[in-house]
Amino acid sequence: MSPLLEVTDLRKHFPVQGGVLGRTTGFVYAVDGVSFDIARGETLSLVGESGCGKSTVGRAVLRLFAPTSGEVRLDGERIDNLPAAQLRRLRQRMQVVFQDPFSSLSPRMKVREILAEPIRNFDLARGAALEQRLISLLDKVRLPRDALDRFPHEFSGGQRQRIGIARALAPEPELIVCDEAVSALDVSVKAQIVNLLAELQDELGLALLFISHDLAIVEHLTHRVAVMYLGKLVEIADRRSLFAAPRHPYTQALLSAVPVPDPTAKRQRMILTGDVPSPIHPPSGCRFHTRCPFVFDRCRTEEPALRPAGAGHQAACHLEQPPSAVAA
Ligand code: SF4
Repeated sequence: MSPLLEVTDLRKHFPVQGGVLGRTTGFVYAVDGVSFDIARGETLSLVGESGCGKSTVGRAVLRLFAPTSGEVRLDGERIDNLPAAQLRRLRQRMQVVFQDPFSSLSPRMKVREILAEPIRNFDLARGAALEQRLISLLDKVRLPRDALDRFPHEFSGGQRQRIGIARALAPEPELIVCDEAVSALDVSVKAQIVNLLAELQDELGLALLFISHDLAIVEHLTHRVAVMYLGKLVEIADRRSLFAAPRHPYTQALLSAVPVPDPTAKRQRMILTGDVPSPIHPPSGCRFHTRCPFVFDRCRTEEPALRPAGAGHQAACHLEQPPSAVAA
């Protein structure tokens, strides 16, 4: 079966303007050749530090802006070059849940209007059928039915994110992009929202692109993980393989910061030194070489391609054997 979403060699370069004439003096290489796919009913988590380009990937997939180059296909149809007039039907099939539900929900609209708007926009139901849909949406995200007649400010952060999820579900999309959707929530609320997303995905057969800087959160939700560094994917693998045997030193460093629930197990912390380099002047060769503890000459000049590192597992590193920096 072909994937629901296919992203091939996606690039997004933002021009940098300078001088009195505002000429383009360079580019921010925010996304620089990213490829992955997502099957129906699958969650792919895109993880990496702030500024690595993961949210830009999400926004380019959603066509919130056009990519610089590359292809994005939804169910086989190219969508990266769709004219603006045809984007409307795409909006029904792909939805987004943002990090901050408070700023993404209109404070002047009651929940009834917030949820009814996309249903009406896509002409999916009216009258009694619309009311029934609203109730069903609230049931799905475990909110009481009287929530319909309240405003967003009357809810807690976690409840507002449930409203954001209900709004994303309203047009019955096939794919939802969750862009740091739980990052602003307290730890216990985070876990509840992650569990809710996992249940909804199971129940509705949704595909999720789950964008997060937090590997610990994605472990309980995801089927596969793609790790991004400075505009590129450095590793992609199914969840078990990635968490049990990360191959890329950057993934190992991220994973070494994830707490282990078993107090008898030890994980050797791998501290990365230095800042993430500027995406305006990314390093030559392997982009991670300025921070990698295993760097050698070849890394500074030759860019490593993603290559097989086990079943369903790829990593972009010149090392033949993964360094044993993470001891489980
Ligand atoms: Fe480190 Fe070299 Fe591998 Fe890059 S290619 S991750 S610098 S060992």
